[in-house]
Amino acid sequence: MSAVPTTTATPPLLAVENLRKHYSAPRQWLRKARPPVQAVDDVSFTVAKGETLSLVGESGCGKTTTAKSVLRLVEPTAGSVRLEGEELLALSPEQMRQRRRDLQIIFQDPYASLNPRLKAGDIVAEPLRNFGGMTAAERAERVQWLFARVGLRPDAASRFPHEFSGGQRQRLGIARALALNPKLIVCDEPVSALDVSVQAQVVNLLMDLQAEFGIAYLFVAHDLAVVRHISHRVAVMYLGHVVEVADRDTLFAAPRHPYTEILLSAAPVPNPRTPARRILLQGDPPSPANPPSGCRFHTRCPLAQAVCREQRPALTPRDGDGTHQVACHLR
Ligand code: SF4
Repeated sequence: MSAVPTTTATPPLLAVENLRKHYSAPRQWLRKARPPVQAVDDVSFTVAKGETLSLVGESGCGKTTTAKSVLRLVEPTAGSVRLEGEELLALSPEQMRQRRRDLQIIFQDPYASLNPRLKAGDIVAEPLRNFGGMTAAERAERVQWLFARVGLRPDAASRFPHEFSGGQRQRLGIARALALNPKLIVCDEPVSALDVSVQAQVVNLLMDLQAEFGIAYLFVAHDLAVVRHISHRVAVMYLGHVVEVADRDTLFAAPRHPYTEILLSAAPVPNPRTPARRILLQGDPPSPANPPSGCRFHTRCPLAQAVCREQRPALTPRDGDGTHQVACHLR
């Protein structure tokens, strides 16, 4: 995997700061108002040009809400999302529509996101038509080029989505996302619905496209083998917070946050001769409508101390260049 510039001298492509998404619970007649669900709370991270940052954590930890907030498919409650320095949360709906040329998304279930009544060629041509600037012949040529680039046969353009396999449908979703030469693609569990053999093909395709076009990915996944393969850096989320961020190799070799340790210990062991010790995560995740005080992980953390219940640990650097950040009082 090629190195990605992550020095502070290089301005990030995407900078997310103090992002919050709280959902208000509907008030029921004659009942007290329920507290809002804090799906994402005070999340900050950056993504460099050509970099893959993965967001990982248990389901319900806020990773998909965070990723969708970047595109404003979910409207954040507070915070800042800057793309090349431009504040996306300040843009009007029309300005945001124009900016989506640079920001695309690939969904977990491509079938649900593809119009079943359109032929594959029209699905991929749709963003080109919406953003204008091309003749019909240029669009047709671009569609054929995109089909070839994602490994679909030219005659696939005249077929409907239901005629494709899951892997082919995901290739179609990738061709559509790629159509406008985006700078960043949010990949929301893009391979979790596919067979394992097809997963590897799609992940390798995404990596090839990144190497060729310098696209950045914000990659949401729960499969740590996939995350380990595709990521440059990884951010671990727990109950709406980022608890650890590090480059891929550091995170998998030397995790520091107790939750990251537990999460990685449950992943498949790469070398069966040196099996890792599996640590079981105790209890269920607390409700994001009523998160624990202090460190949100203290109700399940084997190392918890009194301070953990009282003070929220900040995400702070643990190495010289600030790339490894951990939110824990003890680690
Ligand atoms: Fe565990 Fe305390 Fe660290 Fe939270 S701050 S992860 S409870 S040791």
